[in-house]
Amino acid sequence: MKSLPRSIERLADYFSSLPGIGPKTAYRLVFHLVHSPREHISSFAEAINALTKDIAFCGVCRNIMSSDNTTCSICSDEKRDKSTILVVEDILDLFAFENIGTYDGTYHVLGGSISPVQGIGPDQLSIDLLTKRLKTHTEEIELIIATNPNLEGEATGMYLKKEYSHMSNIKISRLARGLPSGADLEYADFSTLDKALLGRSEY
Ligand SMILES: [Zn+2]
Repeated sequence: MKSLPRSIERLADYFSSLPGIGPKTAYRLVFHLVHSPREHISSFAEAINALTKDIAFCGVCRNIMSSDNTTCSICSDEKRDKSTILVVEDILDLFAFENIGTYDGTYHVLGGSISPVQGIGPDQLSIDLLTKRLKTHTEEIELIIATNPNLEGEATGMYLKKEYSHMSNIKISRLARGLPSGADLEYADFSTLDKALLGRSEY
């Protein structure tokens, strides 16, 4: 928009780079902030700034964690079953499974899915880390593939299956079908997700 101060344009550009936010909404958010008390704007800016300092990714599973820790709260929890690894595309999927409250294994967050169209190959995902992680185990491990039920998610699942099927101690399973095709796991309701997990079968 012409004639607006540069600081407004700049923040609106940042807001509209966020998922689901178009230019109109971006300006609405900026003007909302402009009319907020100064202290509120400052603490909002501090909260964003804190993301660069306080947040890190777990070296075992790539879950998000506080930078004071060495592994995330799930990996460091003695009660979690380390012989079950649920492989998800992103952290929101991990939260979706955690919210069900019945899964007591661990996770591996891939950081996306294989998508030749978007130029995302296996190297850009945390697959190397998963391979290293699996090699440290000699006991039987169940790897539950919980990628999204769409083209990219399926391709990623197939890739992982091919990658690990020769490892004799790794049993690979996948969520039961029944999740709406093309949907994102993070939007599935608790009972659908719980049923998909309980009804999993060998991949
Ligand atoms: Zn972890």
